[in-house]
Amino acid sequence: MPDMTGGVAAALSPLIRRIVAPNPGLMTGPGTNTYLVGIDEVAVIDPGPDAPSHIEAIVGASMRERVRWILVTHHHIDHAAGVQRLKEATGAEIVAFGPPKSAGADWAPDRKAKDGDVIEGTEWGLEVLHTPGHASDHLCFFLEEERVLFTGDTVLSGSTTVINPPDGDMAADLQSLERLRKRRLSRLCPGHGDVLDDPKAILSEYVAHRMERENQILEILSAGPSKITDLVSKIYVDVPEALHDMAGRSVLAHLQKLKAEGRVSGRDVNSAWKVA
Ligand SMILES: [Zn+2]
Repeated sequence: MPDMTGGVAAALSPLIRRIVAPNPGLMTGPGTNTYLVGIDEVAVIDPGPDAPSHIEAIVGASMRERVRWILVTHHHIDHAAGVQRLKEATGAEIVAFGPPKSAGADWAPDRKAKDGDVIEGTEWGLEVLHTPGHASDHLCFFLEEERVLFTGDTVLSGSTTVINPPDGDMAADLQSLERLRKRRLSRLCPGHGDVLDDPKAILSEYVAHRMERENQILEILSAGPSKITDLVSKIYVDVPEALHDMAGRSVLAHLQKLKAEGRVSGRDVNSAWKVA
């Protein structure tokens, strides 16, 4: 069993440590993963929720002046809410693509990251990849020395990630996954759950899963117009009721992608959708 105990720094490789945040739940699995990259100069990937005990654990794992960068995969609160508290504790530079204006977040990056940037520590380099889909400001970070990809919520361990429009975008997500698939990667370090050892297979599974959903939706609609709630109850038979609202958001994301491609028509969550 993987050790996903919260609050302690677990070494995953010579350069990578992980601390699991105390926010386990339906959408967060064992809790958000905070990664520490480097020893002499440390980049923190995702401070996680604004939990004082968690921020203390992050600072306590290194000498505070060694924490030089706070990298944010995306603005969702389970990844980014602790950003200000960690900044105050360490003086580190906040590097992020977002947050998008619509999020109304109470923090801003010191440095706006863009695709292709490289954050350079003394012992390592982290390449920034802009991977919109789960969130418009989503970034993955590629650790060149170990060919490890920090995936945020673009890829999770144990489940596929929810695409919640309008900030979430299914077409963009598929493009991001295709792009990641082209890279030679050794391991994936996801935003939730344990390390994934077979990046090629996982990324292919993700794309296949999305295409299967899309086909299910098209199949049901070809039998007649359907509302999103009906699509969810037909497709997500094994998924607990409590998750049906989120499933509906992902179905909407699929429908919007198909609509942009001219394959279905419909308006919103309350209207009936049909094949075009
Ligand atoms: Zn998350």
